[in-house]
Amino acid sequence: MSTVKQGTPGSPFVSRAVERLFEGHATSDGAGVKLTRVLTRELQPRLDPFLMLDAFRNENPDDYMGGFPDHPHRGFETITYMLAGHMRHHDSAGNSGLLEAGGAQWMTAGRGLIHSELPEQQDGLMEGFQLWLNLPAKNKMIAPSYRDIPPEAIPEFVRNEVRVRVIAGVADGVVGAVTRPDTEPLFLDIHLPAGADFAQEIPSSHNAFLYVYRGVAKVGDQEISDRFMAILANDGDGVRIRAIAPTRLILVAGKPLHEPIVQHGPFVMNTAAEIEQALQDYRAGRFGQAFVARQP
Ligand code: MN
Repeated sequence: MSTVKQGTPGSPFVSRAVERLFEGHATSDGAGVKLTRVLTRELQPRLDPFLMLDAFRNENPDDYMGGFPDHPHRGFETITYMLAGHMRHHDSAGNSGLLEAGGAQWMTAGRGLIHSELPEQQDGLMEGFQLWLNLPAKNKMIAPSYRDIPPEAIPEFVRNEVRVRVIAGVADGVVGAVTRPDTEPLFLDIHLPAGADFAQEIPSSHNAFLYVYRGVAKVGDQEISDRFMAILANDGDGVRIRAIAPTRLILVAGKPLHEPIVQHGPFVMNTAAEIEQALQDYRAGRFGQAFVARQP
């Protein structure tokens, strides 16, 4: 059994328990991309500051080739983490980038942009996640920004045969590719051989969940199977995860904002009036010009 350092030397590490298990529901978005919506709107208050998690794992090109053509966002951040395949990004700020397996894209929509996310492959597996992270009210109208994080720019470490990729936050002293104020997101991709243990500290005030995408994990007495999300109770010093089989999962945690959430599709603000303003600004062209419209 592994332990991690605690404030009081020698005190045992107490793991959070699993509060609820969720199986995502199959849906489609963009131009017919099949995906599993894991974190749905009903869970936003419970998993504040996270607004959405989509998992996609498609072998059949018909299920992903449409991609996500030009669409707007305002008021939050999107984090796309690719496990397999290639996606091309373009946005109205003039940014372009290629997302590839093991890499991530961190986009801060802020006051708004229009972007597209389109497959850059004709066949083969397309797999990954898109996580939506809220912005605090004071930052919802900041200038949009965008960062491509290639696979080699995501720090990783191996401890007790467990491989951990630190996309955001800090794990075992390793600072992730991204750190953010206010919401202090933790986003880890964890690969465990059968029987291995991994423990991660998480402040009890932070909301946390994990999603298994290969194998079977166990937290306390609760088994979490492939394609299930476990919401972790806000107790304990963090979470201890044991792999029942060779297992891969993402662990996500963040500091809640405790602010009102009003969502209308790709706009997430604090009030209905701000949503109305977003719609007006979008219709008036104040989000900039879509990539396709800029082509000769
Ligand atoms: Mn988008």
